[in-house]
Amino acid sequence: MINLHVHTWRCRHAIGTAMEMAEEAARARLRVLGFAEHAPLPEEIDGWHLPLIEFPAYVAEVEEARSRHPELEILLGLEMDFIPEYEEFITEFASQTSLDYVIGSVHYIDGWNFDYEGALAEWEKRDRAEVYHRYFHLIREMVERIPFEIVGHLDLPKKFGHRLPPELWDEVEATLEAIRNKGLVLELNTAGLRREIAEAYPEGRILRRAAELRIPVTLGTDAHEPEHVAAGLDQALAYLGTLGYEEIIYFRRRRQLALPLAELRKSP
Ligand code: ZN
Ligand code: FE
Ligand code: ZN
Ligand code: FE
Repeated sequence: MINLHVHTWRCRHAIGTAMEMAEEAARARLRVLGFAEHAPLPEEIDGWHLPLIEFPAYVAEVEEARSRHPELEILLGLEMDFIPEYEEFITEFASQTSLDYVIGSVHYIDGWNFDYEGALAEWEKRDRAEVYHRYFHLIREMVERIPFEIVGHLDLPKKFGHRLPPELWDEVEATLEAIRNKGLVLELNTAGLRREIAEAYPEGRILRRAAELRIPVTLGTDAHEPEHVAAGLDQALAYLGTLGYEEIIYFRRRRQLALPLAELRKSP
């Protein structure tokens, strides 16, 4: 099994050290475990990103876990927030060659952290179609401007039940096209299965279209605690099989590699 999206205590809203996450991954017999901590920003906003000053400590923590768990392939990644005002910093940070890969994610729409429970009331004031419209535009901006490998949880605005309005399908198409044209990889993120929406990101219709467009995929559980290190992976893998996917992508030092689906299914 493979999971490229795991957080640690260093983002201050997850629990578990890299070592504890790795221990759980070893117990669950993962083959590849990728850490993708919320990347630092040039200034502290909302207090849920890795503090910039702790980046070296994060790297050291992942490396220590790697040296203690040779049975796992442990990767060093980041989940980079795309916030247009910080483009220069983000570009520089995401370009670091020591990283195995970067997941690009949008959690902010014009300063609003739309997937944060504490900012849930804002949804009442917003037009859902407008939210999605702005969201997909931000994703495409990110795709065009930032160096990264994996598009994280593509339909995240549905997290609290605000599903994609059907009239926004053109935006999905344009976004998938941009992803394909840049040669990026789409993440199937199982965190949604643990939310009230009870469905992975992105939804089936988007993933089916991605499969038609031959956009490669990877897997992530977005674990914020050791217990979730392998959550939903079996289900996700089975689903990808029904869509005709034959391999799961991962990255070592920014080089794209693939694990055949059939091989992953065999592993206990
Ligand atoms: Zn998080
Ligand atoms: Fe995220
Ligand atoms: Zn538009
Ligand atoms: Fe995440």
